[in-house]
Amino acid sequence: MEGNTVESLLQLQEMDNVIASRQARLRALQVEADQLVSELKQLEKEKLSRSARLEEVETDLRHAERTVQAGRATLKRLQGRAQEVHNMREHAAARAEVDAARQNLEAAEDDLLDAMQDQETARSALTDLEGDIASREQEYGDRLAELDAERKRLEEEIAIGLDKRSNRALRIDESARTLYDMVRRGRTDSPLAPLLDGVCGHCYTAIPLQTQQVIRAGRVLVVCETCGVILHVTE
Ligand SMILES: [Zn+2]
Repeated sequence: MEGNTVESLLQLQEMDNVIASRQARLRALQVEADQLVSELKQLEKEKLSRSARLEEVETDLRHAERTVQAGRATLKRLQGRAQEVHNMREHAAARAEVDAARQNLEAAEDDLLDAMQDQETARSALTDLEGDIASREQEYGDRLAELDAERKRLEEEIAIGLDKRSNRALRIDESARTLYDMVRRGRTDSPLAPLLDGVCGHCYTAIPLQTQQVIRAGRVLVVCETCGVILHVTE
């Protein structure tokens, strides 16, 4: 094994780390973008429900208005009829009808006031939300555009990085490269670690003296038996 194989693998590792951190950033961007889009969708859903609520209370309001109109007409009719009574008994009966009609009308007027209040509440809830949606659409739209620009830049950088990486890898001894790729597969941290005062620089397990000598000789690549990283000496 050439003495500079470890050096080459360290360079490869550096390239891989840069690519991996850009890929991680790319995933984070996607998560943020998805979050923004889903918040907007949620707001739109809420808007539909508030619109439905407004329609519902407006239906109630029209019903309450009709009830009040009918109540007024009934009262007027009964009052008119009360004018035309012929005796005390009819008078008392007409009076009772008028009183009942007046009570009904008052109840209907109370309902109408409630319905007007409900309409006002539902309308302002919808208007507030629409304002909120408008400002968030602006704000989130700007942020989504930023995220998209960063995503494009990262994708280009990653593509260039991968290209350079594969060119670099081709110039490394095949068995060393194969070992490196094997160690790298399935791990998120670096495949190489320095030998530090007789311990593995990744998992801190003591490395037997004989193995340390093999690592120092630098003729073959040695893998830590505990954590599997490729061990190397540092200058
Ligand atoms: Zn180790």
